[in-house]
Amino acid sequence: MIAAHKFRVITAVAATLLCACTPKDGRSPSAAAQPSHPLITLDSHDDIPLDFATPSVDPATADLQVNLDKMKAGGLNAGFFIVYVGQTARTEENYAKAQTDAETKFAAIHRMADELYPNRVEIAYRAADVSRIAGAGKVVAAIGIENGFVLGKNLEKLDEYYERGARYVTLAHNGNNDLAGSAQPRPELGDAAEPTMGITALGGEAIDRMNRLGIMVDISHGSKQTALDAIRLSAAPVIASHSSIAGVSAHARNLDDETLRALRDDGGVVQVVAYDSYLRHQSDEELAALRALRERVALTAGGPGALPPDRRADYDKGLLEIHAQWPPATVKDLVNHIDYAVKLIGIDHVGISSDFGGGGGVVGWNDASETGNVTAELRARGYSDEDIGKIWSGNLLRVWGAVEETAARLKNAR
Ligand SMILES: [Zn+2]
Repeated sequence: MIAAHKFRVITAVAATLLCACTPKDGRSPSAAAQPSHPLITLDSHDDIPLDFATPSVDPATADLQVNLDKMKAGGLNAGFFIVYVGQTARTEENYAKAQTDAETKFAAIHRMADELYPNRVEIAYRAADVSRIAGAGKVVAAIGIENGFVLGKNLEKLDEYYERGARYVTLAHNGNNDLAGSAQPRPELGDAAEPTMGITALGGEAIDRMNRLGIMVDISHGSKQTALDAIRLSAAPVIASHSSIAGVSAHARNLDDETLRALRDDGGVVQVVAYDSYLRHQSDEELAALRALRERVALTAGGPGALPPDRRADYDKGLLEIHAQWPPATVKDLVNHIDYAVKLIGIDHVGISSDFGGGGGVVGWNDASETGNVTAELRARGYSDEDIGKIWSGNLLRVWGAVEETAARLKNAR
């Protein structure tokens, strides 16, 4: 854990970083008035609950890992708020249910920005919006869709979701869908056990349509074949919105060296994710203890938040005991993955994500208010202001801009 006094120091460091580039000599009034290149921190994956931006879940103050107050406190300028739908059996009925849930989340994000807090948060529809909105002192909300399952087999939904603000689509989640194979197939849904499936013909058409619209293609959760296919098929660079590094910790969700090099050669970016079980090796004993705890409190897909108070307390106590025996990942582990990726594929292809609200969070960066700790650890490892700017947002925004340029080029070529 990071002591409170240390946290204050770290926050001060982060605050200094934010204004380090303001001209100090004031040689000309115009130069002094122009804050050049302030650090923009962007987290590319923040999940929201279905009842987000309702009276029970206030986006500013709700007990979530990311809310507007915590973003402000931690100096987190921008986040991709996620329209996530879980994978279920591929039936017309389930496609319709997924689309209803997606619309609920789109509406919630728009309600937050357009109705509840228009003075505090604004939706970014273009890469260039991010620095403009952050420069105006507001939180930047961008939108990503997690799980191409939401399209069913109807690619025209992409046009509709683009209009709603979606700027990336994670092709698959846990379980294969009509577009792509997952890194974690679900035999109970009829998937082959091994993650060998790549992009389908329909998935190829979806990527083409995303290229033409200006939606980033996201390979996180995809199988290795899905990642390599997407990189090959996409006319624009692709992203991994929340994945970590197999070379540091072997996990089905992490990207291996070959995939990372292909991503780099294509101009893309991996947004290393602060997700405990991807960042460090978990022993069979620890996994068994976690499984036993989940069974004891009858944890459902709703997560710990959906448990009644007595079982929640039981769960929290059990988790503390497990953490005491097997310490969870820290900000240092997160930056170990970043370091490895930077050494392998270079400073221009690595970014950061939290997966807050979706199981993410590590000791030292367990909610948006602790964002300064990540910046401080990068500094401690010797990254320059310029490098930190690239990692925190510059690289992803470059890819977003390239995706916009590709869309414009394809439109003109038509
Ligand atoms: Zn995810």
